[in-house]
Amino acid sequence: MDLKFSAAEEAYRLRCREWIAANAHHAAAVAKAADPVQAARDWQRRLWEAGYVGLAWPKAYGGQDATLTQQVIVSEEMARAKLPPLINTIGLSILGPTLVLHGTEAQRRRFLPRILSGEELWCQGFSEPGAGSDLASLTTRAVLEGDDFVVTGQKLWTSLGPIADWCFLLVRTDPSAPKREGISYLLCRMDTPGISVRPLRNAGGGVHFSEVFFDSVRIPREHLVGELHGGWKIARSTLDHERSGLSGVISLEGSLERLWRQAAAGGEIADAVARQQAAQYWIELEGLRYLGFRALSDQLAGRQPGASASVGKLFAAKLRQKIARAALDNAGPYACLTKKSPHVVGKGRLVAGYFDSLGYSIGGGTSEIMHNVIAERVLGLPRSSGEA
Ligand SMILES: Cc1cc2nc3c(=O)[nH]c(=O)nc-3n(C[C@H](O)[C@H](O)[C@H](O)COP(=O)(O)OP(=O)(O)OC[C@H]3O[C@@H](n4cnc5c(N)ncnc54)[C@H](O)[C@@H]3O)c2cc1C
Repeated sequence: MDLKFSAAEEAYRLRCREWIAANAHHAAAVAKAADPVQAARDWQRRLWEAGYVGLAWPKAYGGQDATLTQQVIVSEEMARAKLPPLINTIGLSILGPTLVLHGTEAQRRRFLPRILSGEELWCQGFSEPGAGSDLASLTTRAVLEGDDFVVTGQKLWTSLGPIADWCFLLVRTDPSAPKREGISYLLCRMDTPGISVRPLRNAGGGVHFSEVFFDSVRIPREHLVGELHGGWKIARSTLDHERSGLSGVISLEGSLERLWRQAAAGGEIADAVARQQAAQYWIELEGLRYLGFRALSDQLAGRQPGASASVGKLFAAKLRQKIARAALDNAGPYACLTKKSPHVVGKGRLVAGYFDSLGYSIGGGTSEIMHNVIAERVLGLPRSSGEA
């Protein structure tokens, strides 16, 4: 593992920092915009046009042919400037890398540049009412009729479903095959006739995910990724990408800094227990950062993120919850009130943040499933009945 940045990389960091300083006001304007989704797309496009999105993706598909290290530098600088995550996060971090590996040339040219620019927002249609941890039990059915798949079924917990333009989804194409061998991986426009999206409110009060219903939805065959019935292998690769990466570390750093400022109340942290706690979380965050660097070194050496991504995912979810809980505790009992109460503290952001943090040990595979993956694929222990 090589942890040093070269002189050229440090110079690149400086250029990136200067560009962000000159343009950050566009990102700050997103939250106050009349149409925040469009404003967030515009911000992503601005960053992309400046060459700061899709650093490690091939130039032929709208990327920069730069190094993963440069990608990390940009992410670090964005976090340093307290910029929000990019809106097309699912397309950028999950589908894009999957298409680079498994898409056809036509699919890569068609989809990747529009993911990078934010022109097309993506959601992920994997989970169903009867298929979450045991994802291979999914029942959404696709039947090939001429040049189209006809899809009928339901997806659940689809993040960004209410605003997405496209969905990548798993469907059952061969019900007679063993369950992992009858699944295919499709790409579908969200405005195709027969699709309806029902937004779901989460415990923190936000509307980020949804149910998506498919009623005889026609998807052209050219939007099949990989082989017919070969979707499970691709789904595994997608999930490894979903669970890997340094982006979690970078957003946690921001949460921890806020916690630190809150506990210090403008000075040093006076309470010895709070001080110990803050120090402990920094130590854990550094551990997580080095896990991320290790994964990055693997990728630089041409190895795909594998089951070790599950270690980072598990650890990051736990740390995120501890930080959110500590922030809530430090703020006192009124911090538990929601914004409807006249006594609310900070518009109820801390309690909403705490509820949101709980979702991190479920989304992308639960912590119990991460334990199973680590046991089986990292430690080589016998299989459990769990999936994904
Ligand atoms: C914030 C958030 C965002 C999400 N976004 C998306 C999205 O965009 N697209 C999408 O497709 N899905 C999404 N999901 C769904 C998520 O992937 C599933 O919720 C998750 O995989 C768990 O599935 P489930 O909810 O059906 O729970 P279940 O699988 O029914 O699990 C219930 C409980 O049983 C435990 N359990 C199950 N099997 C085992 C086992 N073998 N060993 C030990 N314990 C086990 C689980 O850990 C859990 O505690 C999101 C979820 C959340 C919370």
